[in-house]
Amino acid sequence: NCVIDANNLIKIYQNGSEELKVLDDVSIQVYRGDFMVILGPSGSGKSTLMNILGCLDLPTSGQYTLDGLNVLEASDNELAEIRNKKIGFIFQKFNLLPRLTALQNVMLPLLYRGVKEEEALEAAKEKLTILGLGARLFHRPNELSGGQQQRVAIARAIVGNPQLLLADEPTGNLDSKSSEDAIRIFKELNQQGNTIVIITHDVEVAQQVKKIVYIRDGKLYENH
Ligand code: ADP
Ligand code: ADP
Repeated sequence: NCVIDANNLIKIYQNGSEELKVLDDVSIQVYRGDFMVILGPSGSGKSTLMNILGCLDLPTSGQYTLDGLNVLEASDNELAEIRNKKIGFIFQKFNLLPRLTALQNVMLPLLYRGVKEEEALEAAKEKLTILGLGARLFHRPNELSGGQQQRVAIARAIVGNPQLLLADEPTGNLDSKSSEDAIRIFKELNQQGNTIVIITHDVEVAQQVKKIVYIRDGKLYENH
């Protein structure tokens, strides 16, 4: 029941002749049903860790097993499939496609997987309705508030029932009310059994969850 099992991750960026060690022997385990926040200041390596855990980037060295799959031995195609099937991503900037409606944005991950259009439409509609956007299905992102856009992004992340929800600063672009709403939604999703990892520098977000891991200068700590 280990969703993320990552050990001794090291990430070194090469800036010309200079080496920058951004992750320094990071090990992290996330179990099914966990709700974890990784809290750290800007520049501590959060996005780098998120990109590796999300199979968007590879570590310089280490081991990473996601839902039983050895990520570091996967081909690019296999990695794309792992991302599409196993992970729901939520970003600070929502990353919605501006020309598509809320409904079309949420349908997209299912269509990529080859799910039939009617089926994708029903699933997308259901998730958006659950998240309080039943009256906004045909709105484009720029016709929605920030909080509503983030709820569309959450609907898109959960529509395929992924093993893992990975959120990178999900409240970073939200006012405090929308931010509270988003956290409440994450809590509810977790109570329904979703495994969630949030990466943030926002202490208020971290205070809402039981499991906090701290990141500082590329190292993880259980305590401050
Ligand atoms: P955070 O998300 O906590 O702000 P990042 O993972 O984005 O931290 O960055 C950690 C450090 O690594 C920063 O000093 C950043 O400038 C550097 N960094 C991030 N990505 C790259 C890259 N592709 N090449 C070189 N340096 C990078
Ligand atoms: P965040 O706001 O999530 O911390 P950043 O603005 O630090 O992200 O970085 C945005 C993107 O630029 C990331 O993909 C990161 O890997 C890359 N990046 C950050 N710092 C550097 C750097 N010094 N050199 C090259 N790429 C970088």
